[in-house]
Amino acid sequence: MSKETKAQRVERIKREKDGLDVFADIYRYAKSGEDIDPEDIDRFKWYGLYTQNTNLQEREDKTLYFMLRVKLESGRMDLNQLEAALEISKRYARGTADFTTRQDLQFHFIRVEDLPAIFSCLSEVGLTTAFAAGDVARNVVTCPVSDVDKERLYDVEAITKEVNDYFDANREISNLPRKYKVGISSCPKHCASHEIQDLSFNAKKSEEGEVIFDVSVGGGLASNKRIASHIGYIEPHQVLAVAKAITEIYRDYGNRENRNRARLGHLLDALGVEQFIEILHSKVDFRLQLDDVQKYTPYVNREHFGIHKSINEGRSYIGCAINGGKIGAEGLSGLIKIAKKYDVTAIRATTAQNFVITDLPSENAVFVVEELKEMGIDAEPSVFKARTLSCTGINFCKFAVSETKDLAAKLVEHLQRKFPHFEERLSFSVNGCPNSCAHPHIVDIGLLGCKVKRNGESVSGFELVLGGNLEGDKSSFGRKTGIKFAADDTFRVVESIVESYQGSHYKNFYDYA
Ligand code: SF4
Repeated sequence: MSKETKAQRVERIKREKDGLDVFADIYRYAKSGEDIDPEDIDRFKWYGLYTQNTNLQEREDKTLYFMLRVKLESGRMDLNQLEAALEISKRYARGTADFTTRQDLQFHFIRVEDLPAIFSCLSEVGLTTAFAAGDVARNVVTCPVSDVDKERLYDVEAITKEVNDYFDANREISNLPRKYKVGISSCPKHCASHEIQDLSFNAKKSEEGEVIFDVSVGGGLASNKRIASHIGYIEPHQVLAVAKAITEIYRDYGNRENRNRARLGHLLDALGVEQFIEILHSKVDFRLQLDDVQKYTPYVNREHFGIHKSINEGRSYIGCAINGGKIGAEGLSGLIKIAKKYDVTAIRATTAQNFVITDLPSENAVFVVEELKEMGIDAEPSVFKARTLSCTGINFCKFAVSETKDLAAKLVEHLQRKFPHFEERLSFSVNGCPNSCAHPHIVDIGLLGCKVKRNGESVSGFELVLGGNLEGDKSSFGRKTGIKFAADDTFRVVESIVESYQGSHYKNFYDYA
């Protein structure tokens, strides 16, 4: 008998037991201490759990540790949720906690026996890990200030909630061909990066002055490296129907034989846009409208840093930068203290691994900014700190060959020291392997983890990718340069690129690159 392919194995595992049904097993494993069936470990993803690299593990410690991803709906955390996250981080996750590019929060060093207590702690404050990973619709990304920004085109809160409620642990769509990423936004700066979502809805004003949503399909950064195709416009009340119809089309027509050809973008390419729209029209009782394609903000300008007046009288919001999303127990604890002292009611994680304090009395804003700065969190970050992404890296990710988060933070410090007056906007991404978790192909300077030879020895290093940008149909993916270097040489390499760009006449990096 021929060996199962990877796709056959995954499809069989999903057929034999739905990912959602592993929940009861998690409690059983937690109680009994028995070895976990490797096929259940695969299903654990449906609850946001991945096994962790042993890099930081003592040699004699044979514990199976997990990374746990918690979904933050629209990136939002209120004070109770921040306190629950702090409790989990301190008690079960050795002080770890990182914001991700899908507005989630990730913990490390999680043991299966601690999961019942962790799940209960999360559920008490309305948080869940269901569908945070696996072949399902992942956390819906959105603009972190869509409920408070005066410039927003539309309040997408209700629509996003409807779509989230439809996706939420829904058994009809708990077995998709692969992961499936959705975004909904009315941000005039387009910060939810619709170009790289499988499905996204972006508000714009029609020629008649009405708000309509542009539907884009098939974007992605991994095996499906593809800028999403704009397929038409719909009215706000039609978003849920289109989300449902396209999710079902993906479930029913997506490729289940080859996981490298299984994302929605591959299906769109296989069917062609016209046939895809025809199938969509057969499932809804309206037709997509035509209108001019809107202009999109270049990737490096998609941010909400600084103090801004909120749509709510007397209240403000503050966009803040941290390094590569690494907040940790210390950062959470500091944030909670500030929130209590200055009447901050909520924060929201952003798609750039930063966060926004979304609601506080305007008169407290400058004091909050000062206190955040003491914690290393900047409301007016340097160009380097503002847009440096980093993936999980070798400390916790089993695919990684290079360390990322600490290196990214040190790189930012180095560039700030070397170029204190540099003002042009640049974006950076540090990844522990050739995968795309920290979006290396859409930033100006991307680093992909790889092994390189130095003095005949194989050491951790990076390959350089240059010139990525998102800007609607003018988007471009960064080019692999073939230049590889040891991790120790990162400062030197990146510094020389920034220096040479600074001395050039180019207005933006992607033209320069
Ligand atoms: Fe892991 Fe690679 Fe993704 Fe980084 S890019 S988190 S190393 S799979």
